[in-house]
Amino acid sequence: MTSSALSHLECSRDGSRHDADVVQGTSPLGAPLLARYDLARVAETVTREDVAGRAPTLWRYSELLPVRDQRHVVSLGEGMTPLLDLPAAGARLGVPTLRMKDEGVLPTGAFKARGAAVGVSRARELGVKGIAMPTNGNAGAAWAVYAARAGLGALIAMPVDAPEITRRECVVAGAELYLVDGLIGDAGAIVKRAVAGRPDWQDTSTLREPYRIEGKKTMGYEIAEQLGWRCPDVILYPTGGGVGIIAIYKAFLELKELGWISGDLPRLVAVQAAGCAPIVDAFEAGLDESTAPPDPHTVAFGITVPKALGDFLVLDAVRETGGTAVAVTDEELLAAQGQLARDEGTWICPEGAACFAAVGQLRAGGWLDGSEDVVVLNTGSGLLYPDTVPVDVPTLAKDGAIPG
Ligand SMILES: *Cc1c(COP(=O)(O)O)cnc(C)c1O
Repeated sequence: MTSSALSHLECSRDGSRHDADVVQGTSPLGAPLLARYDLARVAETVTREDVAGRAPTLWRYSELLPVRDQRHVVSLGEGMTPLLDLPAAGARLGVPTLRMKDEGVLPTGAFKARGAAVGVSRARELGVKGIAMPTNGNAGAAWAVYAARAGLGALIAMPVDAPEITRRECVVAGAELYLVDGLIGDAGAIVKRAVAGRPDWQDTSTLREPYRIEGKKTMGYEIAEQLGWRCPDVILYPTGGGVGIIAIYKAFLELKELGWISGDLPRLVAVQAAGCAPIVDAFEAGLDESTAPPDPHTVAFGITVPKALGDFLVLDAVRETGGTAVAVTDEELLAAQGQLARDEGTWICPEGAACFAAVGQLRAGGWLDGSEDVVVLNTGSGLLYPDTVPVDVPTLAKDGAIPG
C-alpha cells in the first residue's frame, strides 16, 4: 500500500527541524510544530487520479499524513464529507455560488473526528499509552472514541458549561472525564499537572501535539478534490483554537507545491462570536498576536477560545491569502442557523451558523460582490446543541383536533 512521506517537524516560529519519529509536544520556543513531507517524492510517485480511485475516507491522502505503518491507522470511516450546493441560501444571501462542507456527518458529529483519527493513530504508532486533553467538548468526545478504538487510555477535562452531550460521548467510550468549574485554559492547567505523573501518556492539548492539524488539513484537500482540483475564491471558517484554518491554509500550500492546484489560494475568513473575538480584534488592530477578552461568552461553545496558542498562525493565514476576520453576535448566528435549516433542510451547529451570518455581513459591506465561489465550513451537527432551538408547539389530547 501507500507510505507516508513525512520527513520532519518544523518549529512554526523559527523554522528549526525536529525529529518526527519520537513523541513531541511544542518546539523549544513553546510554539506549535508543523509536520513536513518530502513533497517532491509524492509528486513523482502519486497522481490525483491515483487518489480518486481510493476509499472515500481522509486516509486516501496517506502519503501526506504522518502514519508510517498503515496497520496503526485507527478509523471510524471519517472524511470525504459532502460539499453541498446551497442554491436557496445563496440566493437569499446574494452569493449564488455558495457551498457548505458539512462536517456534521462525521463520527461524533463534529470535524474534531479528523484531528482525533490522525492524532490518535500517530500516538499509538509512537508507543503512547494514553492521551490527556482539555476541551470545550467536541474535541474531547472525538479523542475519547478514537482512543477507545485504539486501545489507549483517555483523560478528558472540560468546563462544566460545555455541551452536555459531549460528556456522554466521553463516558460511553470509557474515558476518565472531569468537569472543571472554569474555562478551557483552567482545564488545560489541570491536565498538564496530571500528565506529568503518567509515564507514556501524552498531552494532546490543541497545537501541543503536531498531528491533529494533519487530520484537519484534509478538509482543504477534500474541498480542492471535490471541486475538480480547483480552489474556491473564499472559505469561511469558525475559528476557536484556529487549528482548522491553519490546517486548511497548510493543505492548500502543500497542494500548490505538489502542482495539484494552481492560481490564487482561497481567501480565508476567520469567523468568531462577538462575545469572544480575540482574533478579529487583533486583525483589525493590525497586530500579530491576540489578547484574551475579559469575559468570553457565546452559545457557539466550540469557538470560545480566549487565547489560542496558534493565534499568530491564524492571523498569518488570513493576511497571506487576502482574507479577513469577522465577528457576529449570538443573535445573528442563531437567526442564521434557523434560516439555513428552513432554506436547505440542514441543521448545523452554532459555530457553522456564525459563518453564514458572516457571509451576509460581508456581502452587505461589499467585501463579497456576489460573483465569488464561496465555501462555508460547517464544523458540526446541530444535534449536538439541542438547546439552540426552542420548541413551543401545542400538545394535543389523544382525540384532539388541530386548532383553527
Ligand atoms: C472546535 C470547534 C471549532 C473551532 O475549531 P478550531 O479549529 O480549533 O478553530 C469550531 N466549531 C466546532 C463545532 C468545534 O467543535
